[in-house]
Amino acid sequence: MLKWPADGLLPLIVQHAISGKVLMQGYANSDALRQTLSTGHVTFFSRSKQRLWTKGESSGHFLKVQSLATDCDADSLLALALPEGPTCHVGTETCWHDNNANSPSLSFLTDLEAVIAARQHADPKSSYTASLFARGVKRIAQKVGEEGVESALAAMAGDREELKNEAADLIFHLLVLLRSQDLQLNDVIEVLKSRHQ
Ligand code: AMP
Ligand code: ZN
Ligand code: ZN
Ligand code: ZN
Repeated sequence: MLKWPADGLLPLIVQHAISGKVLMQGYANSDALRQTLSTGHVTFFSRSKQRLWTKGESSGHFLKVQSLATDCDADSLLALALPEGPTCHVGTETCWHDNNANSPSLSFLTDLEAVIAARQHADPKSSYTASLFARGVKRIAQKVGEEGVESALAAMAGDREELKNEAADLIFHLLVLLRSQDLQLNDVIEVLKSRHQ
């Protein structure tokens, strides 16, 4: 059972379901919670508007709920969501205006994926990534193989600095390969998670 305070509002934190970035924080009353669950779109009680507010109701940048949980003592809510656009009204991905200092380190992989996706159909002369896509899956697959072998050789040589560099090359080219096949790192993570259960 939720522990509703006197004003009927519980803090509601919204976190990106894949990257783990904290997107925004607001408040929910019981109606907001009901509406969130029935529509699948994060809905707050806006203290400034003094009414229910579905994030995205005018911008179209809805937050699609993947899960909803309460904390240890049931006085705070956490929604994992997939945003349908920038979450902050100033146009940034999160309300804690995106930079490396306030993003979880692993979420950089999802930022990199977005950069790679944006380069997919760019001018091959303008970027290395675009030139990889232009040369096709065979070249990308070959690079993944090379970087995998180079990573293995660096480890065999006990060269940790080299291993870090080659592993970075490997991960980058693997992300390009996945993108070329319309896959995301999260699809791979889902496989790993399913094996773990
Ligand atoms: P939206 O819900 O995206 O249609 O935005 C409607 C209005 O809500 C905006 O004009 C802002 O006043 C406000 N708003 C939208 N997103 C945020 C946010 N992340 N934090 C605070 N206020 C917001
Ligand atoms: Zn608590
Ligand atoms: Zn904001
Ligand atoms: Zn390399």
